[in-house]
Amino acid sequence: MTTKLLLTFAICRLIVTVGLTVDPSELLLLGVDGQLSVDPFEVETASLDFGLLTRAEPMAVLHPGSADDIARLVRAAYISSHGFTVSARGHGHSINGQAQTSNGVVIEMSGGSRGSRLGLGKLDKPQVSVKEKHVEVWGGELWIDVLRSTLEHGLAPKSWTDYLYLSVGGTLSNGGISGQAFNHGPQISNVYELDVVTGKGEILTCSEEKNSELFHAVLGGLGQFGIITRARIALEPAPQRVRWIRVLYSNFSTFTRDQEHLISLHGNPISRKFDYVEGFVIVDEGLINNWRSSFFSPRNPVKISSIAGNGGVLYCLEITKNYDESTAGNIDQEVEALMKGLNFIPSSVFTTDLPYIDFLDRVHQAELKLRAKGLWEVPHPWLNLFVPKSRMADLDRGVFKGILGNNKTSGPILIYPMNKSKWDQRSSAVTPDEDVFYLVALLRSALDNGEETQSLEYLTNQNHKILRFCDDAGIKVKQYLPHYTTQEEWMDHFGDKWDQFYRRKMEFDPRQLLATGQRIFNPSFTSSTGTVSPW
Ligand code: FAD
Repeated sequence: MTTKLLLTFAICRLIVTVGLTVDPSELLLLGVDGQLSVDPFEVETASLDFGLLTRAEPMAVLHPGSADDIARLVRAAYISSHGFTVSARGHGHSINGQAQTSNGVVIEMSGGSRGSRLGLGKLDKPQVSVKEKHVEVWGGELWIDVLRSTLEHGLAPKSWTDYLYLSVGGTLSNGGISGQAFNHGPQISNVYELDVVTGKGEILTCSEEKNSELFHAVLGGLGQFGIITRARIALEPAPQRVRWIRVLYSNFSTFTRDQEHLISLHGNPISRKFDYVEGFVIVDEGLINNWRSSFFSPRNPVKISSIAGNGGVLYCLEITKNYDESTAGNIDQEVEALMKGLNFIPSSVFTTDLPYIDFLDRVHQAELKLRAKGLWEVPHPWLNLFVPKSRMADLDRGVFKGILGNNKTSGPILIYPMNKSKWDQRSSAVTPDEDVFYLVALLRSALDNGEETQSLEYLTNQNHKILRFCDDAGIKVKQYLPHYTTQEEWMDHFGDKWDQFYRRKMEFDPRQLLATGQRIFNPSFTSSTGTVSPW
């Protein structure tokens, strides 16, 4: 009863603030299968994200019980005389408020009680087709749950993120990348079909063949064109085990040459390429004690000081080979053959062997450790850059050995290459103009421990310095999980793709009410009232 009164009050405020024309009882009686909530705890949760850098308070939170609920809500926003904003929130693992919205409604896509949201039956657990090798999932499903469901059938998605407690809709709105991307492309290259609620409140099924413009727009589309309620994702036979190897380099060009060689093998038969190629930079020994370090067990101690570094910087290549009972007999030879041509420091080979699910879920183990130390829920001023291959040496000199110097890093700095040919250029995702480009991911945590170089202000300034350095040096980087505050910057980000992006926005979300937390479009109704601003 109290909740209902609060809800009525909130909706009345919404009407006063944004001139919503639907009757409050109409919004209350939208007839949602799920729950529309103004519970202060839920509103507070939806106001924040993993970055802990921005806060925007929605008026209400919808826990949808079905795709129809989402369509009803968006339709109400679309037809209201002044409109209100609607943001899908996956698992809230954005950094800069991308899933937040002020005064509008946040749709919590993940969690909550599992209803029959897709109408697929069995309370909409991911539905695997063994014959067609695909899985149908709710847009808010977490990848860890997709994996668990598909493994029951001996199958698994092909392309991953390093961390699995992310939602399907959230990663498909960006790209979804990890060390498999060189081979299979990002997650957005491994989707067959989507159901999408557009900014007009229609539910449309889209694929390469059907409503293809919407399909390509939504993939990598930063939530701008619609809300993904169902995805059909490609599967492959799941391997049982993973041979996981790390080797070190002190020479940057040797390191990148080997990485580029390994990703050039993507067309080879499975036995003659690795399944995963990543890497990271070690600018100080602190990294050995942080969240990607569990690999270096007491059995495998790493004494960085004993390995001659070049300017104190080391580079770690990380590779895996999957196998199962039928291929276990060949794994040693296959790995040996692949490593033969590499030029890492010979004494620096660290190997481990583990079940496939443990490998894919590796970052969660680190999360648990950081949580236990109170180091997970801290600000994360992350910066993710796609860098053209031809400028990586400049980046090494200017950033890893320059701007970052010998600071303690308080978070991994990933660096690995990808093949542009694996990215569908019709999607909304933006990548540099070279056949091979790198992800350089500075995934640092700000700590309030009195060390200036780990403070939020210091790390934020360093990020600005890095972006300025790239700009001044003419390194045409593209931000991954981009964050900008002006439309000019967004136009620059999308480059040649801007006109298409804008046209698609006008077609699928003409009132610009979706995902305003990305700060790409400023809905006219928010400024007209002068009271509601998404940023
Ligand atoms: P949210 O942050 O909730 O949403 C992100 C954006 O997508 C918002 O604009 C939101 O409105 C929109 N959105 C959410 N759901 C939907 C939907 N159903 N339909 C349409 N739009 C929607 N990324 C990688 O590619 N590779 C990695 O290895 C990787 N590792 C990570 C590790 C950690 C610890 C963290 C915190 C993030 C990592 N990410 C990685 C980034 C991650 O992919 C993004 O944060 C992404 O946004 C997914 O998070 P989410 O599901 O919580 O989405």
